[in-house]
Amino acid sequence: MATENFRLKKQGTKYVHAGAEPDPSTGAIMTPIFQTSTFVQEAPGVNKGFEYARSQNPTRNKLEEALAIIENGNYGLAFSSGVAATDAVIKLLNPGDEVIAAADMYGGTYRLFTKIFERFGIRFIYVDTTNTAAVENAITAKTKLIWVETPTNPMMNITDIAAMAGIAKKVKAWLCVDNTFASPYLQNPLDLGADIVMHSSTKYLGGHSDVIQGALVMNDKELRDQLYFIQKSCGAVPGPFDCFLVLRGIKTLHVRMRQHCENGRQVAAFLTSHPKIDKVFWCGLTSNPGYDIAKKQMKDFGGMMSFTLKDDSRQAALKVLTSTRIFSLAESLGGVESLINHPATMTHASIPREERLKTGLTDGLIRLSLGIEDPEDLIADLEQALAQ
Ligand SMILES: *Cc1c(COP(=O)(O)O)cnc(C)c1O
Repeated sequence: MATENFRLKKQGTKYVHAGAEPDPSTGAIMTPIFQTSTFVQEAPGVNKGFEYARSQNPTRNKLEEALAIIENGNYGLAFSSGVAATDAVIKLLNPGDEVIAAADMYGGTYRLFTKIFERFGIRFIYVDTTNTAAVENAITAKTKLIWVETPTNPMMNITDIAAMAGIAKKVKAWLCVDNTFASPYLQNPLDLGADIVMHSSTKYLGGHSDVIQGALVMNDKELRDQLYFIQKSCGAVPGPFDCFLVLRGIKTLHVRMRQHCENGRQVAAFLTSHPKIDKVFWCGLTSNPGYDIAKKQMKDFGGMMSFTLKDDSRQAALKVLTSTRIFSLAESLGGVESLINHPATMTHASIPREERLKTGLTDGLIRLSLGIEDPEDLIADLEQALAQ
């Protein structure tokens, strides 16, 4: 298994070299984009391991190898989007099965669970997964999957992955962790006992806001085979050019993440001391309830944060959101450029207001995805926007 050679390598070396052996036919150092739908066979059934590109594509195979390496897993699978990867995980289940899902998670995941899969007879029980006892209490004989996201979007709540893995193991359920916010640089859930890691590769893995893609990584061969069967049967596969873009993004993940984290530190320090700011949600602040667990399971704290103004109204938030010059007002995250977002009307609009308020997602909450610009410029931009 190619992933074996990488087990002992440090992160940066893994990211640069994962899935990147020179192309055997030409020596090309970059993985070629195999823009083909089919592969010529020597005789019926005699081929070079490739038959039809929904089932296998050499560019995608290289990316899938890289995904496994960077998450310390045995197997990777790439999907046409993050939600397509999530969709594949839920398709492991049968009607009547129950999923314990984090109460505060990505809005698109919530929509997929409630609006699509509940119609097919799968039950989702939403629990505050930062409360380990609450998860234990929600377990039934029908629980087949625990789905967590940590840190969460946009409240930066932290769930103890090892504790969740312990609960899942006891009842032989799978634990799937949406690791999009942390990225493999900050956190590797398989090492903490998770069965499946999910990524929206659209975010930090791609890293340049130029691709939509998703990923799953796992250790168990049987689980991999089931998910591969779903991937090829349901067909939500990414195209080879998009696979090339994510492979290229992974090469600089560690360099980008270091700057995202540094910008996180500096902007959090600025916001916490600003007179107009009420609360700052960033997992690197000791005031964050999940700080100790974040410190235990993450390498650093990342560049995602949210905050509220003392005037916690929609109007005051909108003034800040429309006054920044470097931060662009946009959904998404994890790119090199800084983004500012209003979860209540943008990323989390599909969650009913009462549900949102229960998790602290008020109309005045502002979310930042810090890019890799110089922190002085980001702080100056926020300073002038807050002065408006
Ligand atoms: C963006 C995102 C997703 C969905 O991924 P897409 O690539 O947009 O389909 C899932 N989870 C989290 C945490 C995300 O940020």
